[in-house]
Amino acid sequence: MSSELIRHPPAVDKVLAWPAMQALIACHGRTLVLTSLRAGLQQWRQGNFDDDRSLLTWVQADLQRRLAPSFKAVFNLTGTVLHTNLGRAPLPPEAIKAISDVASGASNLEYDLNTGKRGDRDSHVERWICELTGAEAATVVNNNAAAVLLVLNTLARRRQVIVSRGELIEIGGSFRLPDVMERADCKLHEVGTTNRTHAHDFADAVNSRTALLLKAHTSNYAIQGFSQQVGEQELAQIAHQHNLPLVVDLGSGSLIDLRTLGLPAEPVVRDVLAAGVDVVTFSADKLLGGPQAGIIAGRAELISKIRKNPLKRALRCDKLTLAALEAVLKLYANPDTLTLRIPTLRLLTRSQAAIQQTANVLLPSLRDWAGAEFVVDTCEVHSQIGSGSLPLDLLPSVALRLRSAQGNKRTQNRMVRDLALRLRQLPQPVIGRIADDSLLLDCRCVEDAQPLCFQWLGAVAAGSETAT
Ligand SMILES: *Cc1c(COP(=O)(O)O)cnc(C)c1O
Repeated sequence: MSSELIRHPPAVDKVLAWPAMQALIACHGRTLVLTSLRAGLQQWRQGNFDDDRSLLTWVQADLQRRLAPSFKAVFNLTGTVLHTNLGRAPLPPEAIKAISDVASGASNLEYDLNTGKRGDRDSHVERWICELTGAEAATVVNNNAAAVLLVLNTLARRRQVIVSRGELIEIGGSFRLPDVMERADCKLHEVGTTNRTHAHDFADAVNSRTALLLKAHTSNYAIQGFSQQVGEQELAQIAHQHNLPLVVDLGSGSLIDLRTLGLPAEPVVRDVLAAGVDVVTFSADKLLGGPQAGIIAGRAELISKIRKNPLKRALRCDKLTLAALEAVLKLYANPDTLTLRIPTLRLLTRSQAAIQQTANVLLPSLRDWAGAEFVVDTCEVHSQIGSGSLPLDLLPSVALRLRSAQGNKRTQNRMVRDLALRLRQLPQPVIGRIADDSLLLDCRCVEDAQPLCFQWLGAVAAGSETAT
């Protein structure tokens, strides 16, 4: 088609006067509509359409695209309960309520209601942390990486920190202990070897420039076979003989013995402190099941120093986090109801039979949604705790499995990847995992099947509407 035959686009002012455009402006405001309209006219000039109706449709779709939330809820069917990229721990209703109570107005965040004077934001959670861990004092920051940075910078600035070579950890997403150490302005003093470090390695390394001994929980890997690390008790003895503190980065840590819930063992914060450790740091949104935060607990004199570091101001938690954290810690005061009330612990302890039931409920609607090109069934899989916890321990679970019915391996592979994309494009995206030539949707984290069913069946219904 020659360019003379393409209709010129109408003038902006003319289009803005259309009743349909006026309706859009009433709804979204002139600024947004105008931006979309200009982009739409550009499309017209590029020859993508040349009539008023198409322009209007394009503008409407563009507005919808731009106004759709970028950050939204998804269904976590990956089988990893504490998935860092999917926001880690789901919060209990008590925490959501606490957040909303303080979110919309003023609160006593840093205000002492007894004296009417300035208060400390940590006070809302410190008492609970101490009660639940046996620590003398505690403070909280934005996350555990911040906690480690703050502790090292406070207690070991321009001095040496002794760490075993077997514990120079990297946690996914660029937390590398040697790098954090450098940013904290500390000098790393490595001792031992990758697989074995002995008590005398630490004892021999202590000198006048040593600030503290550091132990890091090897959350996301395990060194097996001919291996040895020095335990907290022995390390504490060595540290204290030299008047130095022992700091432990627990990563996840747990406030309770997870074995009592039938889960694999994870260091219990109370036990670690009782072994003589002076300061521990751990995440609030890993096994604890709370909001993103880093908890620092231990000896009062050290916590007081840590709190006075100007970096604390930069790393502190916001009011929403503190509200949620207080609510979650309070739930730990009643250990008997934890697996009922803390979603993370409830999901981790779900029985395979219960998960199978959910999978059975979901199966028909998923089959309907996926269409005839896919074979859909259920299969036994293993879920993971996630967030670097216990990488070797897997939890028996059940997944919905989708495989392509036709074609060679290559096309099957592509079809499964396309299907995973289609699931991610649903209004509430569904995130699974691909294993071999199957798409697996682990049902462990689906406690209520109905919203998922609705979404799949709704999508099928919408599809048949547009088809007719
Ligand atoms: C997870 C983890 C961190 C980082 O904690 P965030 O809360 O993600 O900042 C640090 N150290 C260890 C050992 C961890 O497992």
